[in-house]
Amino acid sequence: VDRVLSSVQEFLVLGAIFAAIAIWQFGLENLQPTERQKRNWRLNLAYFAADILVFLPVIVWMAGGLRNGLGSVPIGLEFQKSLTQTLSPSLVLLLAIAVADFVGYWRHRLMHTRPLWPVHAAHHSDEDLTWFSLVRFHPFNRVISVFFDIALMSLLGFPVWAIVLSNRFRHYYGYFVHASFGWRFGPLRFIFVSPFFHRWHHAQDMDARDKNFATVFSLYDLVFGTFYCPKKSAENLGVDGEDYPASYIGQLFYPLKQWKCQLQSLVRRPAQRGAAPTK
Ligand SMILES: [Zn+2]
Ligand SMILES: [Zn+2]
Repeated sequence: VDRVLSSVQEFLVLGAIFAAIAIWQFGLENLQPTERQKRNWRLNLAYFAADILVFLPVIVWMAGGLRNGLGSVPIGLEFQKSLTQTLSPSLVLLLAIAVADFVGYWRHRLMHTRPLWPVHAAHHSDEDLTWFSLVRFHPFNRVISVFFDIALMSLLGFPVWAIVLSNRFRHYYGYFVHASFGWRFGPLRFIFVSPFFHRWHHAQDMDARDKNFATVFSLYDLVFGTFYCPKKSAENLGVDGEDYPASYIGQLFYPLKQWKCQLQSLVRRPAQRGAAPTK
């Protein structure tokens, strides 16, 4: 109950902050929501409610177990000893944020591969990107993120407090980069992810496909060749193609359906070898 209340509290505080900035930037009279925006907000609310009531308690419980199990792996303990003995706590935290964002970059790239895309598509399905779009993640996506991040960060020797704090920081920064402010950060755009930059990650344009994976440091995209930041703002957002479901339940079961299709085509393919192409 405490966790549900604090999630609702966080939602209200963040909502007030982002609403105040939006009113200041665009003016209240320009903030009349369209039908599509209302629909996307309702769907995000469904994700938020299901997460705090059903999925997050389970995921948090599993994450604690995983961390306890991995916290005693010798190599992790060795790393942790040298890390906490050589660096001050604030440097450990800075390093944790940088490393967690590196881990997150590659995990996000993995989510864009064919087998995992059906899970990740939910996050891309909001055509009206706002700060609140950050809540739109399939529960499988959350499980994969939490396990990937906690496992690697624990094995790399980061203490629990640094993992938790770096996760919090990236969580709030994530709200910020999904907001519709259009800030581009000038020359700093090559180091830090801006709302303008992450908006391009959600664009349907071919040039923007599989670009801008980082959450905090766009520097990773620059280094690994996935940096995309043209002058104009991204406009055509959402998931390409018409078969992606619009309802919460439809999106929840979408990965299972897609995996079934992918498996069937894998099984069928050898039998089709040598047959005339149908198209
Ligand atoms: Zn993505
Ligand atoms: Zn996003």
